[in-house]
Amino acid sequence: MRQEVNDQLSRPLQDLRISIMDRCNFRCSYCMPAEIFGPDHVFMSEEELLSFDEIIRSAEQFAALGVKKIRLTGGEPLLRKDVPELVASLRTIEGIEDVALTTNAVLLTKQAKSLYDAGLERVNVSLDALDPEVFQTMSGRKTKPDAVLHGIDAATDAGLGVKVNMVVKKGVNDGEVIPMARYCKQKGITLRFIEFMDVGQTNGWEFSQVVSKKELYEQVSQIALLEPVERDYFGEVASRYRYVGSDVEVGFISSVTETFCGSCTRARLSADGKLFTCLFSESGFDLRALLREGVTDSQIRDWIRAVWEKREDRYSELRTEETAKNRNKIEMSYIGG
Ligand code: SAM
Repeated sequence: MRQEVNDQLSRPLQDLRISIMDRCNFRCSYCMPAEIFGPDHVFMSEEELLSFDEIIRSAEQFAALGVKKIRLTGGEPLLRKDVPELVASLRTIEGIEDVALTTNAVLLTKQAKSLYDAGLERVNVSLDALDPEVFQTMSGRKTKPDAVLHGIDAATDAGLGVKVNMVVKKGVNDGEVIPMARYCKQKGITLRFIEFMDVGQTNGWEFSQVVSKKELYEQVSQIALLEPVERDYFGEVASRYRYVGSDVEVGFISSVTETFCGSCTRARLSADGKLFTCLFSESGFDLRALLREGVTDSQIRDWIRAVWEKREDRYSELRTEETAKNRNKIEMSYIGG
C-alpha cells in the first residue's frame, strides 16, 4: 500500500532521479570542467557505487512512498554496464509508471534497442550545439556532434520518446539556438532550453552568462510563432509551447529567471547512495550506510519519510549572486542531473 509523503511546503515526493555513474565521457565546461575533473580526479570505486540490487531495493521503498517516475542519470549513465537489466527490474516495481534516462547519447546507438526492449520509455538527450567547434567547446571533448545525432536517430528508430535538452551559455553557444530549434522542429523532436545554473562550485557561474527564457523565447519565435501548451502534471519543470500550425513543441527550463521550487517533487540519489532533496544541496543523507547495515524495508521507508517530511529547500527562489558563489553546493555530476 502506498503511503504518500509531503514535505514542509506540502510538496509530495513523486520523482526519483538516480545517478548510476559519477564518471562521464564529456567534460562540459558548465558541469565537469576538464581543469577540475582531470586525469588525477578520483572517481567512485565499484564498491562505493550502489549495486543494482541496492538501487532496486531503494526504488521499491520510494515507490511505496509515492514515487511514480524514475529517471536514470549521472555522470553518464550509459557508462555503467547492463543498464537494460536495471531498467527491466525498475519497470516491474509496483507504482512506477515511467522509467526514463538522461544521456549525452554517444553510447545510445548501440544500446537504444535493448533499452527499449527492457521497458525504457523515454530518453532526454543533452546536445548543446550542432556546429562541431561550438559543440566541442561546450562538451570539452573532441567527439563530433554527429555521434549524438546518430544516438538520437537510433533512439527514435527503436521506438523511444526523445527530447533534446540544450544548456545555453551566453557568448559560447547562444548562436546555436536557432539552428538547434530548426533542426529539432524539422525532426519533430521537442527541444528544451535550459538556463545555465549555478550547480556545484566548479563551473564559475555568473548571472551575466545566463541566457534567460525571455531572450530564448524571442529568438525561437523568429522561426515560427509559439503558442503555450498546458502543463501535463504538477511538478512539470519546462514551460511548454507549440509552433503554431504544427504539433512540435519547444520548452524552457528557467530555473534561474522563473523558478519552480514551489512544485518540485524530486528526490535525488547519488551513485554512492546519498539522498539529496534539492539539486543545490550542500549535503546528502547516507542511504547506502543504512542499506548496508541490514535494516528492514520498513525502516528504510521510515528513514526516507523522515528526510522528506523535514524538507524545506527552495534554493532557486532564494538565489543571489552571493549564495551562488559562497554556498558549498554539490557538483551536478555527483548528485545526478
Ligand atoms: N551525462 C548525461 C547527459 O549529458 O545528459 C546525464 C547527466 S547531465 C549532468 C544531465 C543534464 O544536466 C544535462 O542536460 C546537462 O546539460 C545538465 N547540466 C549540467 N550542468 C548544468 C548547469 N550548470 N546548468 C544547467 N544544466 C546543466
